[in-house]
Amino acid sequence: MDCIFCKIINGEIPSEKVYEDDKVFAFMDINPLNDGHVLIIPKSHAGTIHEIGEDDFLAVMSATHKLAAAVRKALNPDGINLLQLNGKAANQVVPHLHVHIVPRWSGDGLTVSQWEIVAGNMEKVKNVAEQIKNSLK
Ligand SMILES: [Zn+2]
Repeated sequence: MDCIFCKIINGEIPSEKVYEDDKVFAFMDINPLNDGHVLIIPKSHAGTIHEIGEDDFLAVMSATHKLAAAVRKALNPDGINLLQLNGKAANQVVPHLHVHIVPRWSGDGLTVSQWEIVAGNMEKVKNVAEQIKNSLK
């Protein structure tokens, strides 16, 4: 498969690996938003949250938990953003599921997690909540 992250996992493309286990691979983003920007990916190819199995997803999240602690210990950031994008409309660029760990420092100027707070239409919010709850059944 012509997937850049699968090629990183199997070593066809070099990477700065920071962690690996039987299900997960983690490496430094080569276009870091800040120092310590790490990507965590499943070894078994899955495009998005909709294609990955629960076991592999939990393995990715478990590794993310470990790595967030290591990033904190190593770099002492003021905060950490976790980002996980699914689909072009959500700005996913590489179609192999990945979690970003982005260390944050007060005043670093990143706008990655900023949005304008606008009060919602509560009737619409309630209707959408019903749709989601019905979809869980
Ligand atoms: Zn892949």
